[in-house]
Amino acid sequence: MALMTSKQYVESLAKMKRNIWFQGKKIEDPIHHPLLIPSRKCLEEIYDMALMPEYEDLLTATSQFTGHKINRFNHIYNSIEDLNKKTKMQRLMGQRTGSCFQRCVIMDMANAFYPTTYEIDEKYGTEYFDRFKKFLIKCQDEDLIVAGALTDPKGSRGAKIGSDEQDKDLYMRVVERRPDGVVVNGAKCHITGATNAHEIVCLPTQAMRPGQEDYAIAFHLPLDTPGITMIVGRQSCDTRKMEDPANIDVGNATFGGIEALTVLDHVFVPNENIFLNGEVEFAGMLVDLFAGGHRNSYGGCKSGVGDVVIGAASLIAQYNGTEKASHIKDKLVEMTQLNEQLYCCGIASGAEGWKTKAGNYMVDLLLANVCKLNVTRYPYEIVRLMEDIAGGIMVTAPSEADLRSEEVGKYVEKYLVGCGVDAENRIRVLRLCENLALGTAAVGYRTESMHGAGSPQAQKIIIGRQGNFEMKKELAKHLAGVKEA
Ligand code: SF4
Ligand code: FE
Repeated sequence: MALMTSKQYVESLAKMKRNIWFQGKKIEDPIHHPLLIPSRKCLEEIYDMALMPEYEDLLTATSQFTGHKINRFNHIYNSIEDLNKKTKMQRLMGQRTGSCFQRCVIMDMANAFYPTTYEIDEKYGTEYFDRFKKFLIKCQDEDLIVAGALTDPKGSRGAKIGSDEQDKDLYMRVVERRPDGVVVNGAKCHITGATNAHEIVCLPTQAMRPGQEDYAIAFHLPLDTPGITMIVGRQSCDTRKMEDPANIDVGNATFGGIEALTVLDHVFVPNENIFLNGEVEFAGMLVDLFAGGHRNSYGGCKSGVGDVVIGAASLIAQYNGTEKASHIKDKLVEMTQLNEQLYCCGIASGAEGWKTKAGNYMVDLLLANVCKLNVTRYPYEIVRLMEDIAGGIMVTAPSEADLRSEEVGKYVEKYLVGCGVDAENRIRVLRLCENLALGTAAVGYRTESMHGAGSPQAQKIIIGRQGNFEMKKELAKHLAGVKEA
C-alpha cells in the first residue's frame, strides 16, 4: 500500500496510544476530541485529494526507490519540476484548508537529511544514508505522517549550549550511551501537527561545535513511544472549537493547524533509528538545508491562505455594499500584488534549484530566504487591508447562540443584514475574517509567518552570507573604472 485513504489514516492513528495533554488534562480520546479534529481534517484532506484524479499530478509522485506511487509530501525532489510542483501543491492546500495543513515539515527535512547523511557517510563511513532511505521508504509505502522537530526551548539565548549556567536539557541531548542505542532527554517546541502524526523526526536546533557531540543527535521515533508527551499549545479563540455548536463562531469550522510542546523524557532511541550522532560539523548543514527548504515552502502555503484572505475580503466588501468603491478595489489589488510576490519567490527559489551530491534537488538558498523574509512582512499587510475592508463588526458581531436565540435572534437578523445577503451569511464571512486575522488560523498565517522556519534575523544572516557582496563590489569597480593598486 503506498496511498492510504483518510479512513485508513484515522484508523491507524486510533491504534496508537499517544500521550496528549490540553489545559492540564490528558486527552483520553484524541480521535474524537473537538480541539484536535480540525487539525486532523487538514491531513485527511491531503489523503482524500491524493486519490482524486484531478489532483494526482500535484499530490502524488513516483518514488525513485520503489517505483511506487506515493504522496508527494513524502517525496525526495528529483528535479526542478518537483520543486515547482511542491510550491503549487502547497498553494492548493492553503487554498483548500485556509490554515497550516501540517504535512510539509518532513518533506523539507527529508530533502535535507538525504544529502547530509550522504556526506556524513562519505566522510566517516557511517551508515546513515541507507538507514534514512530505509525509514523514508517505509514512510512512503505506508503513507505515514511524520512530524519534524527542530526547535529546542533554549532558555536564555545568551547561555552556551551545555554550559552550567542553566538546565542542560534546554537543548535536546544524549544522556546515556548504550551498545544498542542512546537515551535522549529534552523537548521540542511548537511541533506542527505532532498530535496527528505517526512518527517524529528530531534534529539539532542549530549548528554545533566540537564539545557539543551529545547535542548533535538526529533520529526518528513512533509518536506513541513511552516517554513522549505532547502538550497542545493554546491558540487564540481555540475553545470555540469545543462549544456546541462549534460552527459559525469558529470561522473555519472544518480545518485548523495545531502545534505541541513535545517532551522526550529519557527516551531510548535504537541505533537503527539514528541519523546523526556526534558528527558536529554536519548539524549546521542539516539545519541550513532544512531551513532553506522550509522557507521556500512558505511561498506556497502562505500565498494559498492569502488567496482565502483576499477572497474573504472581497466577499465582505460585497456583503457590506462597498465593493464598487475605488479605494476598496485598490486595496484588493494591493493584497493580490503582495500575495503573488510571495508565490513568485516560492516558484523562483525552486526554479533556481541545484543538484546535491546525493542527487536530490535543493532550492536556491538566497531566494528561499528572501521568500521567507517577505513572508515575515506581507501577510501582516494583507491582513491589515482585510481588516480595513471588513470593518469593526469583524470583532463585535454577536455569537451564533444569539443569532439562534428565540428572544434576541430577530434583532441580530434585522441589524446585521448585509447587501443582498442575510445576517447569518454575513456573520459567517466576518468570523472567517476574524479567524484568519486573530483566531486559530492566525497562528499559521501571522505569527508563524514571522517565526516559523526561523525568525527574520535568521533569514538575514543567510542573505548576508549568500548576498555575494564581493562580486557586486567588482561590478561597481568595473563600471566606475576603479583601478586599485
Ligand atoms: Fe506546511 Fe506552511 Fe504549515 Fe509549514 S506552515 S507545515 S509549510 S502549511
Ligand atoms: Fe511552519
